[in-house]
Amino acid sequence: MAPPINDDAIVLRTADFSETSMVVTFFTRENGKISCLAKGARRLKNPFDTALDAMNVCKILYYPKNGDVLQLVTEAKLTDRFRVDSTVAIYAGFHVVQLLNYFTENFDPQNELFDLTKIVLNDIVSLDSLCKAASLENPPEKLSRCLLHYELRLLGLVGLAPSLHECVGCSKKVEVSRGAKRIAFGMMDGGVLCANCRPGKRNVVSLSPEALGALQLLASPDERFWKRLQLSQKTLGEIRGVWNQYLAHQMERPVPILRWLKR
Ligand SMILES: [Zn+2]
Repeated sequence: MAPPINDDAIVLRTADFSETSMVVTFFTRENGKISCLAKGARRLKNPFDTALDAMNVCKILYYPKNGDVLQLVTEAKLTDRFRVDSTVAIYAGFHVVQLLNYFTENFDPQNELFDLTKIVLNDIVSLDSLCKAASLENPPEKLSRCLLHYELRLLGLVGLAPSLHECVGCSKKVEVSRGAKRIAFGMMDGGVLCANCRPGKRNVVSLSPEALGALQLLASPDERFWKRLQLSQKTLGEIRGVWNQYLAHQMERPVPILRWLKR
């Protein structure tokens, strides 16, 4: 048997396997996404305690197996518990791990994406009191901003980021200053289109210069740009409308949680 591996891991999902065991999908920092059999995890007294709940971050020990089979996890020690009270925060957490699960492949490590996800899950936990005061249709602006930043960066890190600064047709820089005209955004082309490249393109929507400017800042890895933004309801609504369509297009299916994230 190959020696066991220690790794930091985010719990993406769990599924019952037998009366006493579970299959757990982890996104690990050094080895990417893996599916593990957790023997005894469904017993009342089990070696994992509550570490294997979705959205938790833990340190795991597992035995690697060759091929497309389940790994065997034998230890999981909790590092960051995803403890929230509000439904909005729970939805947000599920949304994050669902996207991460969808856009990653098994055994494809992405340290930066791991760290980014750990940060956004922490942000959701610390924004929980704000979330509690918000209704389901109306997540707080700070949470919406954190999630949009996460989604834009996630797609960037997996190579699916839309072109937000230059026309996807001819690479001409687009104008986003105040008073500029609305800018065409091609869902299928994957980014903004200049007036010359726009004709004849299908599935095109338009963005206000404010919304495009905000998207550019939200996509920045530098938190000085996106953390200071204050987005109006109107701009958030416009961004969510377009961005949800883009995400659904990338995922080739609608995501139920996205309906809740209208704004
Ligand atoms: Zn062009």
